[in-house]
Amino acid sequence: MRSSQKISLLIVVGVALLAWGLSSLAGRRVETSSLTEEGKLMIKKVEKTDEEWKALLTPEQFRVLRRKGTERAFTGIYNDRYEPGLYVCAACGNPLFSSETKYDHGTGWPSFADAVRPGAVTFHEDSSFMMNRTEVRCAACGSHLGHVFDDGPPPTGRRYCINSVALDFKSAGADKDAVPAGKTETAIFAAGCFWGVEDKFRRVPGVLSTEVGYTGGRTKNPTYKQVCSNTTGHAEAVRLVFDPGRVSYEDLVRLFFKLHDPTQLNRQGPDVGTQYRSAVFALDKAQEETAQRVKSELDRSGAFGRPIVTEIVPAAEFYLAEEYHQQYFEKRRRRDGGNPDECGGDACGR
Ligand SMILES: [Zn+2]
Repeated sequence: MRSSQKISLLIVVGVALLAWGLSSLAGRRVETSSLTEEGKLMIKKVEKTDEEWKALLTPEQFRVLRRKGTERAFTGIYNDRYEPGLYVCAACGNPLFSSETKYDHGTGWPSFADAVRPGAVTFHEDSSFMMNRTEVRCAACGSHLGHVFDDGPPPTGRRYCINSVALDFKSAGADKDAVPAGKTETAIFAAGCFWGVEDKFRRVPGVLSTEVGYTGGRTKNPTYKQVCSNTTGHAEAVRLVFDPGRVSYEDLVRLFFKLHDPTQLNRQGPDVGTQYRSAVFALDKAQEETAQRVKSELDRSGAFGRPIVTEIVPAAEFYLAEEYHQQYFEKRRRRDGGNPDECGGDACGR
């Protein structure tokens, strides 16, 4: 090795060591650092006095962000918003959550499956109100955002339950109306009482909207009462619009098989009748093939111990159910609190 090469090598090693030293220093301060678009590590700590925050924030923002308050459930402006974009800290603008991991957990607060990047938020033990919870704060300004729980959807399994008022939303572009037209897909599943089925699908990141209705039968414009009488041939079904860039039809089919018992013929638990049958209503050949393939695979694997009776048929006309059935559990939570998640066999009694 020539001496000039040795010198270059020394310089390279020196720079590497310096970078390592700096990064480990920065690592200790990761709670106050954030990545720029170029991916550089940059300390961007925001510190203000209470007086300065009060001048900057609304009283409600100050109460939640700076006094660890909680907004009332179902009152926040971002609870039901799903257009693409970035949620930033309402106090300091630090990017916190992407709309890509936003989903509906039915709690009345915006739910996210992950932070937009590691280090965007910090975690703190919180034993207030006789509960052991993990508080989530903005890593840049230390403002209170909400809490994180471990009952979220895969793959993270996490649920960041965040106050709307702690967030500002930056739309992804001029097109604020969600995924560009033509880029969404629709799926229709029947898996027993549609209240619970819709509630579960609504929580899947990438599912943009859901509706419950009746399909697969003979009667035109059926009512709930007619469908309950088990004479219309219709199944209680959920129609969902999803972004295939975020969740595939196959993922949804697999989830469909997981969230009910596809070996029960014309019933789900206490709910008995053909309106509760297990069915995939395929909107095209590709959906039909995917559903058949997953069904055969699960059958072969013996996953359910008994043969799967799910019918896979071409989608027919879908009749929207009455308004009070739409997002039924969410409405009940909003009205009664608590966490209803079972139809309990009383579906047709209402
Ligand atoms: Zn902040």
